[in-house]
Amino acid sequence: MYITKLFIPITKDFPSEAKIKSHQLMLRTGMIKQSSAGIYSWLPLGFKVMKKIEQIVREEQDNIGAQEMLMPTIQSADIWKESGRYNDYGEEMLRIKDRQGREMLYGPTNEELITEIFRTSIKSYKLLPQLLYHIQWKFRDEVRPRFGVMRCREFYMKDAYSFDVDESSARNSYNKMFYSYLKTFERMDLEAIPMPADTGPIGGDLSHEFIIIADTGESKIYTDKNILNIKLKDYTFSPESLIKMRESFSSIYAATDEKFNNEDFQLKVKKENQMITKGIEVGHIFYFGDKYSKPLNGLIDSKDGKKVAVKMGSYGIGVSRLVGAIIEAKFKNNIMKWPKSVSPFDVVIIPSITKNNKENLEKAEKIYNFLKKQNVDVLLDDSDENMSNKFKKHDFIGIPFQIILGSKTQGENLEFKEINSNSELLTIDAIKSKIKE
Ligand code: ATP
Ligand code: MG
Repeated sequence: MYITKLFIPITKDFPSEAKIKSHQLMLRTGMIKQSSAGIYSWLPLGFKVMKKIEQIVREEQDNIGAQEMLMPTIQSADIWKESGRYNDYGEEMLRIKDRQGREMLYGPTNEELITEIFRTSIKSYKLLPQLLYHIQWKFRDEVRPRFGVMRCREFYMKDAYSFDVDESSARNSYNKMFYSYLKTFERMDLEAIPMPADTGPIGGDLSHEFIIIADTGESKIYTDKNILNIKLKDYTFSPESLIKMRESFSSIYAATDEKFNNEDFQLKVKKENQMITKGIEVGHIFYFGDKYSKPLNGLIDSKDGKKVAVKMGSYGIGVSRLVGAIIEAKFKNNIMKWPKSVSPFDVVIIPSITKNNKENLEKAEKIYNFLKKQNVDVLLDDSDENMSNKFKKHDFIGIPFQIILGSKTQGENLEFKEINSNSELLTIDAIKSKIKE
């Protein structure tokens, strides 16, 4: 893509309404545009990043055997009345009436709908366990939508649901998701800490929030820094190993505000290991047994012929929130560097172009075509701004690799730079290998 063709409405100044880095950067680089309070349009640059995040989430769900489906955004109020949550959910739920006067709602989450689908489709333990997920827009009429895509009214979420015949099998599904979440965030180059959580309106007795460390986070966290040393690669995917992985996390103190108890904290965590910081919740998982299957009659025939309520869990990841959360974690000293896995482009070519000298532009186009053929997603900055302005702009756009065609480039040896490190001279083949690494 040539930058002069890209729909990228960059603004010079930081918008005053934006209070945190990610909101400022996303508005400034034209990733999003607010349409009304807490509701955004995703412009090409922002949309590209979100799609990459979505794809990683999808692959890691598929890797644990979850099956993708798609449920609608608009739901009938009837099933919510059956579960009792139509009233309980309160004002966050956007309620709608259709032309027949039927009560509908814009889904804030999907436990009821998925249970309704399950109860009419699966009757026997033989077809269990099942893990289903979808990635779909949600609407919650948050009292205070703020911080750009971090707390929206309309947001994009991956939500998964597990169905098992008994509790031990259900806990294994929970552990698989736990593993998949760590893997998902690791692929985005994020350190996500699983923290025991309250279950809130979803209900149930076992729940974890996945929190990434960032000063602007809404959750305060208290933990032992050793929690960061637990590595996924030390565990396999067998049920026993998953239990061990969960045990290593549970053995270390970790609490958010809601669950924090100072006496416990002082007792269990050595002074020098205490970590008190803020974080952003990017995922939340719940095991809630038969909380929905009971009232909604999600019954199955068990092995011994009895009808039992299926045991369920639900698992959310804030796909659109992650775009902002990654910026919060990676935007430092006014320089953004996207993790390679979610960057809007793999590399940007920045040629120095003047009115009288288009030589660098021609060279840039050749490199551009070469990289395109190798399936590298390239942005070419063919604008006629001076180099210092171009560099400033790309510090915000955050593409991690740059090929700079200016005074340093010599013949076949091109100036290549990874953001936040020194540049080096490399041939185009060497550059290609670096990008593809
Ligand atoms: P929060 O405590 O932040 O309101 P929640 O507990 O209500 O989150 P869940 O219902 O578990 O959230 O939703 C799953 C994920 O969806 C959250 O971990 C978060 O990443 C994302 N999410 C929830 N609410 C919003 C929102 N208003 N805007 C953007 N993302 C959201
Ligand atoms: Mg909420």
